[in-house]
Amino acid sequence: MKYNGIYPNKCGKFGDFGGIFAPEVLMPALCELDEAFEKYRNDESFKKEFYQILESYGGRPTPLFYAKRLSENVGCKVYLKREDLLHGGAHKLNNVIGQALLAKKMGKKKLVAETGAGQHGFATAIAGAYFGMETKVFMGKVDIARQAYNVYRMQLLGAEVIPVESGSKTLKDAINDGLRYWITNVRDTHYLMGSVVGPHPYPLLVREFQRIIGIETKKQIMELEGRLPNAIMACIGGGSNAIGIMYDFIENENVQLIGVEAAGEGLETGKHSIALGLGRRGVLHGSLMYLLQNEYGNILKSHSISAGLDYPGVGPEHCFLKELSRLRVETATDNETLESFQKLSVLEGIIPALESSHALACLEKIKGEFNKDDIVIINLSGSGSKDLNIIKQRLEFKVK
Ligand SMILES: *Cc1c(COP(=O)(O)O)cnc(C)c1O
Repeated sequence: MKYNGIYPNKCGKFGDFGGIFAPEVLMPALCELDEAFEKYRNDESFKKEFYQILESYGGRPTPLFYAKRLSENVGCKVYLKREDLLHGGAHKLNNVIGQALLAKKMGKKKLVAETGAGQHGFATAIAGAYFGMETKVFMGKVDIARQAYNVYRMQLLGAEVIPVESGSKTLKDAINDGLRYWITNVRDTHYLMGSVVGPHPYPLLVREFQRIIGIETKKQIMELEGRLPNAIMACIGGGSNAIGIMYDFIENENVQLIGVEAAGEGLETGKHSIALGLGRRGVLHGSLMYLLQNEYGNILKSHSISAGLDYPGVGPEHCFLKELSRLRVETATDNETLESFQKLSVLEGIIPALESSHALACLEKIKGEFNKDDIVIINLSGSGSKDLNIIKQRLEFKVK
């Protein structure tokens, strides 16, 4: 079977994956969202307004930067798609602006979102402030304690951070409480999903809003090199930055697409987030995907040094692309990631997000496959400024 561009189907299926595994009370809201998206996705004035905001407010197009010293170091031509330069410091802005604009067109007045480490909550708070929409962010109590900086940033932007006390008081409990809130407030509220996960139509609409990364990249590499790259690499948490840069290259079969998952402390320790590589099929947050689970189907705790990759599942489209052998799945450990994080900082003067550093670390591991004229594009999904506290515990420098 080949990928022929018509996925997902009307039921939100990417092959066997995806779908709508949602409680009946949510179906009217999901249908309303689906209908609104179908109405606006090809509406020229909607598309124009979306891009105009990303341009004037977000800083698009982001540069496709030839990393000269890194290229010399690894032995092929490395280009970095600089999503770290987008307002908010990550690719997440594309998605939140898209969804909030759609919600506004639907007549919604409020946004609700869940957040683990706070990055998606922060992005949602930006969109809430931009559009003047009241914003509530559900966050586990444990995460609130761990992520004081992000909590404060959300509050500064006028969002209300709601502590979640149920279960393990972390991300999955925040998602449950957020959805429960949505069920009782659907009339005036949009649930802003943070990645290409959740029930249909979320994986579709998040992909469509993130596709701008790949559309720009294709144009830029043709201008710069006159040919398509040999490979595109991106880290995979839920999968939105990866599908965003890769989608418009799926039919270019000579372009390798390589997704990099977090191997955490190493396979043998069991502390990792390798859902595509090691997971089995299961349903989480409304959709069928590869999931880290035990023999009884209980979801396992994921682990990664980067909060954005610390998720036990992965978007349904990636599962499908893997099954079609169109997506190659690789991994990088916490330690390999830290080395590449430091290397890019020193060689190029760019401090990358720990998430994005996984893709850099993977290139380091497979660089022998490329020769010096080969072009590899890495999606630099975000800036590392948010990670400095974690980095500082692992990398110490002395003043000489
Ligand atoms: C949230 C985040 C990710 C992971 O999310 P995806 O949906 O897999 O892209 C990756 N990089 C950065 C910088 C993030 O903030």
